[in-house]
Amino acid sequence: MSASTYPEAATVQAAEGVFIDNRWEPATGRGTVDVVAPAEGRVFARIAAGGKPDVDRAVKAARHAVEEGHWGRLSALERGRLLMKLGQAIADHAEELALLEARDTGKPMKQARADMVAAARYFEFYGSAADKVHGETIPFLPGYLVATERERFGVTGHIIPWNYPAQMFGRTLGPALAMGNATVLKPAEDACLTSLRIAELAAGVGMPEGAINIVPGLGGEAGAALAEHPGIDFIAFTGSPEVGVFIQTAAARNHIGCVLELGGKSPQIVFGDADLDVAVPVLVNAIVQNAGQTCSAGSRLLIEQSAYDLVMERVIERFARLRAGTPEMDLDLGPVINAKQKKRVEGFFSRAEADGVPLLAMGQVAEGAPADGFFVAPRIYGPVPRGNRLAVDEVFGPVLSAIPFEDEADAVRLANDTDYGLVAGVWSGNGARATRVARKVQAGQVFVNAYGAGGGIELPFGGMKKSGHGREKGFEALYEFAALKTIVIKHD
Ligand code: ADP
Repeated sequence: MSASTYPEAATVQAAEGVFIDNRWEPATGRGTVDVVAPAEGRVFARIAAGGKPDVDRAVKAARHAVEEGHWGRLSALERGRLLMKLGQAIADHAEELALLEARDTGKPMKQARADMVAAARYFEFYGSAADKVHGETIPFLPGYLVATERERFGVTGHIIPWNYPAQMFGRTLGPALAMGNATVLKPAEDACLTSLRIAELAAGVGMPEGAINIVPGLGGEAGAALAEHPGIDFIAFTGSPEVGVFIQTAAARNHIGCVLELGGKSPQIVFGDADLDVAVPVLVNAIVQNAGQTCSAGSRLLIEQSAYDLVMERVIERFARLRAGTPEMDLDLGPVINAKQKKRVEGFFSRAEADGVPLLAMGQVAEGAPADGFFVAPRIYGPVPRGNRLAVDEVFGPVLSAIPFEDEADAVRLANDTDYGLVAGVWSGNGARATRVARKVQAGQVFVNAYGAGGGIELPFGGMKKSGHGREKGFEALYEFAALKTIVIKHD
């Protein structure tokens, strides 16, 4: 695959606008933001630099869609059918979208292809769930009938990051639309071309005007304008804890709710009786996938002291064989997203060296990978001292920190010894022990003898502690995007 097989021209043209009421319009300020291909280190597209007036227009379009337009009049069944059609359209355009995603993010083609399967699946899942969200009746005083229903908020705002753009699009918009909200999305400036293309596909399958509006642009401009906009009724955000504070503060000022997913420092807890043949490939992939730029990356490898050497020998052997390359090389990992992120990850390496943390193994950047690409060879450090930055900070890069633990109680203490609490993995042949640990670990999701589980669209996902609050994915996400109303009827 050469660079020319990327569907460049068509997409770039579409990408230089804001998408409101199913139409591309120039951003009011007419400014653009350059989009850099991380594997090449060069600009290959431009997106509109949306701003406050664009967000205003998008919110108005969404409000009109939900209160007066066709969208607001659709039944749950009809909304669901549209979402399923969009899922099918994504599946039908999967290769085109995967190429675009791969160029925009640098990820290997196999990962980009898997992402499109997941993106389509979000719309299939939420499309088929749209007419299955029931309320309940509640026994109350004699002479009363009490019923609850889940009522859409109205207009929901969505701000997503650059690591899995198409999947994030489905994850955040799928449930919001299924519940009948009209949406305004601010995708990430570093990678958002598939979001723009999927919005076009949505219009193509008959999504009514104003249901999906997209304002691309910079976080501090388009993103801040959306977060602060008094016309939105709820906001969903995935990104850094720092920006999460800003989003939550803005939501508080407008007295609206929010769901925040803010990253993690997820532990993989390996006991001596774990099946290493199963565990080791999963442990390595959990940090290498997407070059470690995954909120739920398994970035801490906690190993029972008695098995430390054995486990590490196997992990190191695998780590040393890892290779980073371009999307078309389709190796273990791609580059990180931009020069700033590369510098940040390398900063962790320098500090580890200064702190005397042993570097145990390094993968390689493949021969032929462009010198200007933002490649980082994956690394494993260990034993990382407890409290060291590599043991507690989210790196968002292909770096694994190995730390030994003494016993079960120590494992739980260590697993919970970060500010984050997103995902955890427990590996043990002793089911009772694995269950005990799973229940004590502070994380929104815990896997036992598995990790990640293929997209997991059905599985509620979200954080504890600094990883955020609220739940995405699964049925829980539908409940996030609606207000529960209790109707009390006195009939006697
Ligand atoms: P990351 O470190 O993963 O880039 P960010 O939190 O900076 O995480 O970005 C996630 C999303 O939040 C992106 O779409 C970005 O444009 C947006 N963003 C960044 N700063 C702000 C802000 N001040 N207000 C609203 N959105 C923002």
